[in-house]
Amino acid sequence: MLANGRDYLAIPGPSTIPDRVLRAMHRAAPNIYEGELMEVTQSIVRDLRKLACTTGDVGIYIGNGHAAWEAALANTCAPGDLVLVPATGMFAHGWGEMARRLGLRVELMEFGMSDPVDPARLEARLRQDRAHEIRAILGVFVDTSTGVLSDVGAMRDARDAAGHPALLMADCIASLGCDRFEMDAMGADVMVSACQKGLMTPPGVAFVWANARAQAARVPDVSLYWDWAPRMVPEQFFQMFDGTAPTHHLFGLREALDMLEEEGMEAVFARHEALAQAVWAAVDAWGEGGTLRLNVANPAARSRAVTSLGFDAPVAEDLRAWCAEKTGVTLGIGLGREPAAAWFRLGHMGHVNAHMVLGALGAVDAGMKALGIPHGPGGLEAAASVIAERAGP
Ligand SMILES: *Cc1c(COP(=O)(O)O)cnc(C)c1O
Repeated sequence: MLANGRDYLAIPGPSTIPDRVLRAMHRAAPNIYEGELMEVTQSIVRDLRKLACTTGDVGIYIGNGHAAWEAALANTCAPGDLVLVPATGMFAHGWGEMARRLGLRVELMEFGMSDPVDPARLEARLRQDRAHEIRAILGVFVDTSTGVLSDVGAMRDARDAAGHPALLMADCIASLGCDRFEMDAMGADVMVSACQKGLMTPPGVAFVWANARAQAARVPDVSLYWDWAPRMVPEQFFQMFDGTAPTHHLFGLREALDMLEEEGMEAVFARHEALAQAVWAAVDAWGEGGTLRLNVANPAARSRAVTSLGFDAPVAEDLRAWCAEKTGVTLGIGLGREPAAAWFRLGHMGHVNAHMVLGALGAVDAGMKALGIPHGPGGLEAAASVIAERAGP
């Protein structure tokens, strides 16, 4: 009844696709032998390195985030190698499971679902490994199932303090372009991401960056498809994708990168910060006298791209259904939570602005009222005050 109008997919990926990106993709098939497509791809490679703040190389895969996970492992680890997976949610488990299925030995290190990786524990484990059996640490910067953000620089410091040579990998799939991440400064040897979250492009291309340490640690006999070497340093254009280029995704991604460039990354980060603060303020107010709470208590360990929220009763499923049916807002599912029906997630990544976040929060507020879910007053006022303060007069 009240849902007709533009739908809003307020989930942590895929994110809202800007009309500019859609229009850039709406064109005839380009020449794949010469000309514009090659220039566009070169400029994307340049900008992806800039976005990751690295002097390392980047390889592009036609695939989703899972493809980037596999690419990172396939180039650096051989069956039987041991990898350490500090887990702050479902996505760390997913990457670990992928490693296991590739024949690697996987050691999970659990940090629960609401706390970041503790570098002291990581350091202690690495110190124990005197034989340096651990080949790589699969770190997740922002785990999208929990909204937990971990300090990758502190993981690097922990590894170095332990005098351990393991490669440090960082999953920045949810967070690239939303939560500040600087690959070289933070000391990640390998970084993975994909285009459909902060980069505002339909799912379909994924990225792996590698520094000199990661290049030196490459394993022999990587399959032709996963081998990142020809993708990063091609002799011919088709090697960048081991076959046909994802032509329209490249045009869409070019447009998205232009939009980030025009806004300026500092402004992009400030926008994500303000919108996340508005969400947190609303939930804090709702939680006073209600049962809704933010999953991550410590603001320093929260993502600016996604927020995980839990009730003490399984009412989130009803709320999600209500918001979708009555208001046109789709909320993220309680991925990996117990019980899943008590949890939901709000994506606030990529092409998202104040009215979208205020609208999503308004839908949640109305839904709690319609369904009789107890909540404190003033959530929307609190969010609006944050926006007013951050935006200024
Ligand atoms: C979305 C996401 C993935 C998985 O990406 P897909 O494109 O769904 O394969 C992995 N890790 C994180 C942190 C993510 O947010």
